[in-house]
Amino acid sequence: MKKKVIIIGSGLGGLSTAIRLSKHGYDITILEKHSTPGGRLNIINQDGFRFDMGPSFMSMTFEFDELFESAGVKNPLRMEELDPIYQVYFEGKQDPYKIFKDLKLLAKEFEAIEPDFENKIEKYLKRAGEFFNDTENIVVKSNFDNKLQYFLELSKVPKKHLPYLFRTMWSEVDKAFTSEEVKIIFSLVAFFLGATPFKTPSIYSLLNYTELKYNGYWRVKGGMYNIVEEIVKILKDRGVKIYTDTEIVKINNYNGKLNEIEDQNGKKWKADIIVSNSDAASFRGKILNRKNYGTAKLDKMNWTLAPFTIYLGVKGKINGLDHHNYFLGKDFKKYADEIFTLTVSPENPYYYVNVSSKYDSEAAPEGCENIFILCPVPDLRYKSNWDDKEKLASSIIRDISTRTGFDIEKNIITKKILTPKDWEGKLNLYRGSGLGLAHNLTQVGAFRPNNKDENFKNLYYVGASTTPGTGLPMVVISSKLVTERIMKDDGII
Ligand SMILES: Cc1cc2nc3c(=O)[nH]c(=O)nc-3n(C[C@H](O)[C@H](O)[C@H](O)COP(=O)(O)OP(=O)(O)OC[C@H]3O[C@@H](n4cnc5c(N)ncnc54)[C@H](O)[C@@H]3O)c2cc1C
Repeated sequence: MKKKVIIIGSGLGGLSTAIRLSKHGYDITILEKHSTPGGRLNIINQDGFRFDMGPSFMSMTFEFDELFESAGVKNPLRMEELDPIYQVYFEGKQDPYKIFKDLKLLAKEFEAIEPDFENKIEKYLKRAGEFFNDTENIVVKSNFDNKLQYFLELSKVPKKHLPYLFRTMWSEVDKAFTSEEVKIIFSLVAFFLGATPFKTPSIYSLLNYTELKYNGYWRVKGGMYNIVEEIVKILKDRGVKIYTDTEIVKINNYNGKLNEIEDQNGKKWKADIIVSNSDAASFRGKILNRKNYGTAKLDKMNWTLAPFTIYLGVKGKINGLDHHNYFLGKDFKKYADEIFTLTVSPENPYYYVNVSSKYDSEAAPEGCENIFILCPVPDLRYKSNWDDKEKLASSIIRDISTRTGFDIEKNIITKKILTPKDWEGKLNLYRGSGLGLAHNLTQVGAFRPNNKDENFKNLYYVGASTTPGTGLPMVVISSKLVTERIMKDDGII
């Protein structure tokens, strides 16, 4: 008889695991708290405008080729590479810097502020690329059963990379470049990992390599939600059942195995194998009541910043905005020192703006733009009251208008704001943290919540807060790792 698998959560992690397992004859059911599948990779349709709710671009697209291939289908996604990858506005400077993947063009962009840029960046990326290539399979693409095994694997990494562990990302860019602006641009990625570049180890400069050399950044034609739609289509064809508006709140009985889980309406669900795509740390604390993941312990962990997101349908075309735009405020060091623990809204916020209607005519009515704004803010441990959301949104909208010379406020057709509280409530994101657990050295590899449960033999985890980490391609890799575990335990491989 087919083994029954229940996946709790239909984020990219849950969906990717389902598509992989579906090829091997499991009887799969997905239970999702939200009203639509996709988790953070979701969609908002409002007044004729379509917005990507969360992710708006990705790197390492080959992981999606591998995902679909592993399920026996050709990748149906139509991807488009971005070049320029994004543009960066600095406060007080009228024109943004365009970040081209073509390093000769990029050198031209920086010629006034960073002489000899091309040589410098080639050297910087060469080092980051060597580190990426020497560690990707060992650290990112492996399952670890214990810390000893992890350290044994790490010992295979060439010793020349050791200094990377002891330097910060900032010191790495500081060594490579003289311009403050160039240093800031290449260290911004640290914030996504859950710390400032002044605290993030320089190993993560490998992300600059993946962005500028290896695979670049890509968007999906028809919107990022197309990823979810295509996977769901395949799953439905294969008989996978997806129940939305179904939140697992309790487990019931066990004898070394987790056989039954219960939803918010008291309905009981049984399975041979259970995979949690709910946050791997907070699920252990809140649903399994594990002492090591109680609220006090979870609050002591390092979490990525929370999203404050604004979705605007605007009449008119805004020339100063491209597909991906970063707007930086004053005094980078002060911002970095304060942002993770602020208890009030930032006065001089740094934020990201995505306008997919620039390249996708169906995302907005003719002559209009769909503007998605993401302002990373402290999580709910530090700022729990969001009554001032309109004030923060207005200050950001005013700022974009000033910097682009287009009066957005006057042309708004539709608007929606999601605060960290909304993100927490919709998707069970712990304290509203947008990307889940941070990636400091004590929270990666064997130190990250494992993808196999410590007590229940048939409970597994997939997604941003288990191995290897956060972001769309990492979550796809996470589904590969957990599928390998399940099939090995099941004697299939
Ligand atoms: C605003 C924002 C922008 C981002 N931008 C990018 C980007 O541009 N590029 C990129 O690569 N990454 C980006 N990310 C990160 C990326 O979205 C995540 O790393 C990834 O989507 C996480 O997928 P997941 O499957 O681990 O979790 P999720 O997407 O959170 O899925 C988990 C699912 O489980 C459900 N769930 C939770 N608890 C329960 C329960 N008890 N019962 C039932 N269901 C439950 C949730 O509702 C959710 O649907 C962004 C994230 C945010 C928030």
